[in-house]
Amino acid sequence: MSEDFDVDLFVIGGGSGGVRAARIAAGYGAKVSLAEEYRIGGTCVIRGCVPKKLMVYAGRFADEFEDAAGFGWSVRKPRFEWSVMKARRDAEVARLEGIYDTNLERAGVTLIADRAVIEDTHTVRLVRSGERVRAKTILVAVGAHPVKVPVIPGGDLGITSNEVFELESLPERILVVGGGYIAVEFAGIFASLGSRTTLLHRGEYLLRGFDQEIREALGHAYDKRMDLRLGRTLERLERRDTGIAATLDDGTILEVDHVLVATGRVPNVAGLGLDAVGIETDKGGAIPVDAFSQTRIPSIYAVGDVTNRAALTPIAIREGHAFADTVFGGKPWAVNHDLIATAVFSTPEIGTVGLTEDQARERYGDIDVYKSSFRPMKATLSGSDERVLMKLIVDCASDKVLGVHVIGYDAGEIIQAVAIAVTMGATKADFDRTIAVHPTVGEELVTMR
Ligand code: NDP
Repeated sequence: MSEDFDVDLFVIGGGSGGVRAARIAAGYGAKVSLAEEYRIGGTCVIRGCVPKKLMVYAGRFADEFEDAAGFGWSVRKPRFEWSVMKARRDAEVARLEGIYDTNLERAGVTLIADRAVIEDTHTVRLVRSGERVRAKTILVAVGAHPVKVPVIPGGDLGITSNEVFELESLPERILVVGGGYIAVEFAGIFASLGSRTTLLHRGEYLLRGFDQEIREALGHAYDKRMDLRLGRTLERLERRDTGIAATLDDGTILEVDHVLVATGRVPNVAGLGLDAVGIETDKGGAIPVDAFSQTRIPSIYAVGDVTNRAALTPIAIREGHAFADTVFGGKPWAVNHDLIATAVFSTPEIGTVGLTEDQARERYGDIDVYKSSFRPMKATLSGSDERVLMKLIVDCASDKVLGVHVIGYDAGEIIQAVAIAVTMGATKADFDRTIAVHPTVGEELVTMR
């Protein structure tokens, strides 16, 4: 390291991307400091994927108790204790936070519990301590935050996905606003746990960008599980003695205990000092970077949600890793953002990789679509009316599988495995020659003709 610098790398933000980058860079012998103003682990560990998935599990037991009767079990009316779930969930999050902390320390990364802002192309200032650190390279990995409640009268009565983890009791009545990942997942959780749940979305279909038939299937399933209101918007919120009155654009008034607004997330760039170095954000507030996560300032890089390439934890981790290998390991590589497998932990769950039917038709023209819609074996005895829908999108010219879409039991698990094949460029013939694992839900993927 040159005499002019205190550290080789200064990472701003201790979430998935920042932590991975810091550890890998330190592993290459770089002197690394990481500043985090809140809790190590970032959105995913502290108030995102991890505690959310634990709540998804909590909710799914409701279906299991019901399904069990069809298999001969008699179960007394189950009772759910929010406080038990919350305490255990929060303890698990704290345990993971501790592991992140320890791993960073073991890797030799200096942790700084403070907010850092950029002062010039090689300097960050720590807000609380006032200290300045000179860094050869700065990595911005500050993530994003939920859009605050919409600008409507009484909008501040709503909460976001940050506050939802702090609720001290299960809401009896909840209104969830939005039709993206977060709205759909939390509406599913609350409906399963027994809250009277309304999901309100401005569009006619949930989950923009997903395969149309998957969107429709989720809409049908959610219509049965909760009060689903599509094509409607929220006009105002008012505090009443007995709850919050939410007025919709058709004049309907719903009284609820909480309004969860999940209408998107925006990068955490306010007050970060980007102006000081002449980095302009894009229309969505994200930091523009090249394939190697470098900004227009050669010494400043950015990874994860703040760059809004694909706001997903595994992508941030991959970007952080690629950055560290490239800049500190002498092994340059760039993340391929083209084929990203993803799951939505709604109930029923969704797993998807590759192109939707509409995207494939637009790009490739001549495509084959293989589809299977069926009642899973478990439902035959449980009596549940849930169905599974699977789609394979295949390019006619090359026989390559361009996309796989699943809604139903374990869709997330299924898609992770099948994504390997799709990433490798598997053809429909490869799927066909794969022996089915019987009886499973996933076997349908290799038996569609
Ligand atoms: P999304 O961008 O996925 O969805 C935002 C939703 O809010 C859309 O349905 C959008 O409608 C709607 N919306 C936007 N503005 C308004 C408005 N002014 N009034 C009413 N509705 C509005 O954001 P999320 O917050 O759900 O999630 C953010 C990101 O976090 C996701 O994109 C995903 O990358 C990540 N995430 C991933 C998860 C996973 O992998 N399982 C889980 C949770 C989050 P419209 O469709 O009409 O634009």
